[in-house]
Amino acid sequence: MLDKLRQRIKELLENKTIGVFIGYEQGDNPELARPVMITSAEEVDKLIYDNTCLSMLSKYLLKPEVKASGRCGVIASYSNLRAIIGLLQEHQVTRDDVYIIAVSSGEKMPDYYDEIIDVGHSTHNVGRTTHDEMITDLLKKPPAERWAFWENEFKKCIRCYACRQICPLCYCNRCIADKNQPQWILTSPHLKGNFAWNVIRAYHLSGRCIDCGECERACPVNIPLMLLNKIIYNNIKTNFGYEAGFDPSVPPPLATYNPEDKENFII
Ligand code: SF4
Ligand code: SF4
Repeated sequence: MLDKLRQRIKELLENKTIGVFIGYEQGDNPELARPVMITSAEEVDKLIYDNTCLSMLSKYLLKPEVKASGRCGVIASYSNLRAIIGLLQEHQVTRDDVYIIAVSSGEKMPDYYDEIIDVGHSTHNVGRTTHDEMITDLLKKPPAERWAFWENEFKKCIRCYACRQICPLCYCNRCIADKNQPQWILTSPHLKGNFAWNVIRAYHLSGRCIDCGECERACPVNIPLMLLNKIIYNNIKTNFGYEAGFDPSVPPPLATYNPEDKENFII
């Protein structure tokens, strides 16, 4: 499969279908492959694809140096593909900017790519906790207990913003957390500002989160961020029948107005 992939990327670069390709190479960490940008056919032997290829690549599509290199080829696992579709939905990239080589690994891939390769193994959700039971337990608790739960979690936050940096849909040039005139969120790692940061981050991803789990994987103090994301994700799915990152032609429900929308939250 790897030979086939390398050969295909070589052809795409040589016939100028793409100007740059984003994939993975072996880095210093044997458990986590490193993203790599390839611009010439001579470099394709660097490419690897295995269970260590977990990092999201979609955010590189937004980089000015990538945009300046012509059409960008990218290898897209299930989560990467959903992230790219999310960026297309939000008009951050155009279809002509990107050439998508999807890697099928058992999940049903969104039907939106230029080519697909079957790798026979999954990189999606590797090592991820599914939070369904924790969500059910948490939602059964009275509000005061839920508050105590999050207080206990958010007090650990060191405001490193790794969750923001890794998120494929968190791409503002200037984040609300960095603004100081006015300062919307206290920047020091104290509970009040930590609450504001984590709740605002999760709300900004409402209806946009593609459930990749990267924020939680990146958090150095193991805050179960996916609990918060997934509760919101499930609410959007239940109330609007919508999941981000499947169809670029469907407008996100929280960015559109429909007179038929439920208004039962208005008292
Ligand atoms: S799971 Fe986390 S990193 Fe992934 S899109 Fe949602 S908020 Fe962003
Ligand atoms: S990655 Fe974890 S510790 Fe860092 S800002 Fe996000 S929630 Fe806080």
